[in-house]
Amino acid sequence: MTVSFYGHVRQYHNIKAEIDANMAEVLESGQYVMGPMLKKFEKEFAAYNGTKYAVGVGNGTDAIWLSLMALGVGPGDECITTTNTFFATAEAIWIAGATAVFVDSDPVTNCIDPAKIEAAITPKTKAIVPVHLYGQCADMKAIRKIADKYKLLVVEDNAQGIGAAGDGFRIAELSDATCTSFIIQKNLGTFGDGGAVVTNNPEVDRIIRKLRNHGSGKRSCHSYGFNSRLDDLHAAILSAKLKHIDEWNDLRRKWAARYTAGLKGAKSFTLPTELPGYRHVFHLYVIETKQAAHRDPLLDYLNKNGIDAKCHYPIAIHQQEGYPWGKQARIVGSIANSERNAACCITLPIYPELTEAEVDYTIAKTLEWDSQQG
Ligand SMILES: *Cc1c(COP(=O)(O)O)cnc(C)c1O
Repeated sequence: MTVSFYGHVRQYHNIKAEIDANMAEVLESGQYVMGPMLKKFEKEFAAYNGTKYAVGVGNGTDAIWLSLMALGVGPGDECITTTNTFFATAEAIWIAGATAVFVDSDPVTNCIDPAKIEAAITPKTKAIVPVHLYGQCADMKAIRKIADKYKLLVVEDNAQGIGAAGDGFRIAELSDATCTSFIIQKNLGTFGDGGAVVTNNPEVDRIIRKLRNHGSGKRSCHSYGFNSRLDDLHAAILSAKLKHIDEWNDLRRKWAARYTAGLKGAKSFTLPTELPGYRHVFHLYVIETKQAAHRDPLLDYLNKNGIDAKCHYPIAIHQQEGYPWGKQARIVGSIANSERNAACCITLPIYPELTEAEVDYTIAKTLEWDSQQG
């Protein structure tokens, strides 16, 4: 048996009629860029997130740096974040011209550890950029408290957590801007690239609307800007898919629960933890080997048995070639948890369209390797 890492084509087949109808509507309309389908999707996406505004952009990375820029973060400013995340979190801070300051992650959730943030705050600190890693919310209540105390901005990297919630808070409720990626592999993904910013701040919405479109608010009039738009064809696909996101996240949660029940006796690795009161949407189901030396052998074993397991993210940002890029980065304190996460992580296949047989086969092979360890 083989278990693939993605279910994109299965997902397309499941709702083909809805996607095709939406795309045909755009194709027949003659309006493909900044047209009515984008407006419709932005409205639906704001409603889904419970925010006043949503603005579509070219991708998730742009969503982050455009948010930082719209909030006035730039050269000379520092943004506090983590290194055990996709490279784009820091890349976006750098594109905005700011410095990334890395603190450690929480050993249980692998999201930023709020207790490590205060030690990293300097007079230059302008923003905190938490990542809702793997689909579980960072502790936004604690982060908001620190932000209020030091008058800092908060920009959520929500590329992985659409539809997630915390204990008594929603995503986008406690921040200045929240950034989403719609690249195909995300929980809500288009057939290509896309992104969005959701916010309750009318200025952030207004400024990003101009920045994404060559600094233009009115035809032929331009101020400083770029080209980073969400095409109407992508909006059409996303509008069709948005109707299914809660049901798809529920299926991800179902498969995660099945993995966790099946694997809980294992001795050589630990399983992801859902915090009480949280809704984890399992963008990724990441186990961690107890010994770093066990990671690659287990990964190889799964791959050899036809299971396309991967690692997210085996090379933390500060371990990447080119770090510290433009000297715009610094680490504060020990980041041992982030480094352990990078060294020990293995991602098992998880997506709504998995079958029970595929999940059970993956569990069986993972346990088989575990049973062979001393
Ligand atoms: C996917 C991702 C991004 C970047 O999104 P793109 O749409 O690929 O630019 C940023 N941060 C995190 C945590 C991601 O997973």
